[in-house]
Amino acid sequence: MQFTELQLNASLLKAIAEERFQTPTQVQEQAIPPILAKKNVIVSAQTGTGKTAAFALPILQLLLDRLAPEKKPKRIKSLIVTPTRELCLQIEANFKSYAKHTDLTTTAVYGGVSLAPQKEILKEGVDILIATPGRLIDLHKQGAIDLRAIEIFVLDEADLMLDMGFINDVTTIESLCPRKKQSLLFSATIPDKIVALSETMIKNPIIIKINPAETTAKTIGQLLYYSPKKNKTDLCLYLLRNTINGKIIIFRRTRIGVDKLEETLSKNGYKVTSIHGEKTQIIRNKAIEDFKNKKATILIATDVAARGIDINNVDAIINFDIPNIPETYIHRIGRTGRAGKSGIAFSFCSPDEDAYIKTIEELLQRPIKVITDHPYPRVQPKKQKKQPNTISKHKKGRKSEASKKKKKRWY
Ligand code: ADP
Ligand code: MG
Repeated sequence: MQFTELQLNASLLKAIAEERFQTPTQVQEQAIPPILAKKNVIVSAQTGTGKTAAFALPILQLLLDRLAPEKKPKRIKSLIVTPTRELCLQIEANFKSYAKHTDLTTTAVYGGVSLAPQKEILKEGVDILIATPGRLIDLHKQGAIDLRAIEIFVLDEADLMLDMGFINDVTTIESLCPRKKQSLLFSATIPDKIVALSETMIKNPIIIKINPAETTAKTIGQLLYYSPKKNKTDLCLYLLRNTINGKIIIFRRTRIGVDKLEETLSKNGYKVTSIHGEKTQIIRNKAIEDFKNKKATILIATDVAARGIDINNVDAIINFDIPNIPETYIHRIGRTGRAGKSGIAFSFCSPDEDAYIKTIEELLQRPIKVITDHPYPRVQPKKQKKQPNTISKHKKGRKSEASKKKKKRWY
């Protein structure tokens, strides 16, 4: 299919061409027509499949289709709620580039920065607002946001929103919008809780599901390294020296883990930057910029800080810690191999993480390729040596029975 077949205005098609998008992705092909037909839509498709444009383009088109020119200041007609500040900025940037040949305006509001400038921009009026839940509610309480003209309401990264505990905020926000509106929900996965949420919020939706595990499998190589916990840093340095090139994202479970690894890698001469929830917004933005323009070639991140962020041309992912939620693994490796490019994901598994690998492999419905040829393998549990002081030497015959029993207890 071609973009020209999607009933999009010439000004949007021009912007799409400037983005060098050749053809719509699968999710765009399937989601854009029903959204243009003003249907409620629920979409699940893996990270990196182009979901943002799948709602941004038809929203812009629907707003362009409005007949009457509007009085100033403009009222907010489309609201996109997304869980993190980084996502807000990214979605805003996407809307702005797709709308650059139109008069439609977009702004983003998110926490961690002062309220005043956001209020000023809102006063001037805007067509499309992208917001994190907390900041949106704050601004609304202060009378700085009017949601009564919303025609199209979008929940992006709904599963992450849920993980981050925004469910009540989302319900509140939805209730501040007019009842009659078009509602769209985008998510990488659709857990049961989202089904429940959407049933109350999104009436008679069209459900579009792009099979998640398979898209991952095609373009992303996945390798598994069993290693003791204490050797993971050495394993990481070894792979960086010998195997992995280019732009790399390393995922760690905790903020402390991120900081520690950043220190070690930079001591070893790597150009590293990092993001996690305890860093200020300005520092996080700078880290992402540095990584995008290659001032840093390695980005170390926690899941929440990194999820959904669109960083192009990532060559490799390292799962320094194995995520305990299998879907998180899919999200993480979705950072590489984006939009059809190939990528590779390295996972380091210590003994306490074996169970996580099992559930990930169940979700993928296949095993991850294990690499045993590296300097820091896990030592198999040693066979128990003869127990001293148990059986006397001259009762050899019966000894084996006794020690077998002992062995059982040891394993
Ligand atoms: P998702 O929300 O599904 O994780 P994004 O919307 O962030 O994915 O898109 C991932 C990347 O794919 C972005 O860099 C985006 O610019 C690019 N992209 C989107 N649509 C297309 C397309 N039709 N052709 C090529 N690249 C695309
Ligand atoms: Mg997205």
